[in-house]
Amino acid sequence: MEERIWVAGHRGMVGSAITRLLESQGRNVLAVDRSTLDLRRQSELETWLRANRPTAIIFAAAKVGGILANSSYPADFIYDNLTIQTNVIHGAHKAGVDRLVFLGSSCIYPKFAAQPIVESSLMTGPLEPTNEWYAIAKIAGVMTCQAYRRQHGRRYISVMPCNLYGPNDNFDLQSAHVLPALMRKFHEAKLSRAPEVVVWGTGAPLREFMHVDDLARGVVCCLDSYDEYDHINCGPGMDHTIRDIAETIARVVGYEGSLVFDASKPDGTPRKIMDSSRIRALGWKPKIALEEGLASTYQWYLRHMANRAEAETQSA
Ligand code: GDP
Repeated sequence: MEERIWVAGHRGMVGSAITRLLESQGRNVLAVDRSTLDLRRQSELETWLRANRPTAIIFAAAKVGGILANSSYPADFIYDNLTIQTNVIHGAHKAGVDRLVFLGSSCIYPKFAAQPIVESSLMTGPLEPTNEWYAIAKIAGVMTCQAYRRQHGRRYISVMPCNLYGPNDNFDLQSAHVLPALMRKFHEAKLSRAPEVVVWGTGAPLREFMHVDDLARGVVCCLDSYDEYDHINCGPGMDHTIRDIAETIARVVGYEGSLVFDASKPDGTPRKIMDSSRIRALGWKPKIALEEGLASTYQWYLRHMANRAEAETQSA
């Protein structure tokens, strides 16, 4: 049977990276825009699946956001994510799609999990409160895949990435993750010659960052060669303090002013570095060093986002 891989969420940072990779391998990718199909509408989705008959699905559609967005809009994060993932996984089963890769996040693990975090730490302790609604939805997604595997023999798997960055990221300052937010703040501060840039929190939390193209290779590697009940971690196995990452981004952008830490903003979880030895054993390893990935992402930002972002700031 001819392969037809539906990348759900193909316009997002993760889905677009996976689509680029699959197309570069000459593989047949299906995509549908949000304006044509709202994944929250179960019957429309099931009709679309019956008509388009994917042979595999990569689920990269999600409502995502940084620490402020997650804690400000808990209802949106839990409702959108639970609804779209349940519709897609159940719809996939009904339409006879035997292969599905569900994408989660390292925030599914307990706030104080032993580091580096192994897959089996899931549900061994309380979650980080700033993103527990999103995390609960993603945990439910992992278990939904496991349920369809157990009851129906479906080959549905889950991959947990670390903090990601790259082209097509969200650069909106209120809803972005730390890396695109700081890239934009430093870029605009450089242009306006602002003497300082505010970085949220104490600067002490540690995060594991990876370029989205490295994740895309991990996801496609799992699609092709991982077929287990347990979810699998995907990260480079190195972390950095927010202070270090802020200094690195300032250097990449060429901002020479000072950094001010606003400790009234939340730090979130103190550390979340994952143990990714399981995916490494499949032959995957990351290729893009942090500073190189940041530099190419900044070039992407300059080409695609900088004018738009500045216009928004001026009209705000
Ligand atoms: P998290 O990994 O789920 O906590 O998500 P984020 O990427 O939003 O935040 C990571 C860390 O960066 C947190 O400790 C934030 O407080 C910190 N941070 C510093 N400056 C910023 C900023 O401008 N935006 C965001 N989103 N986080 C920031």
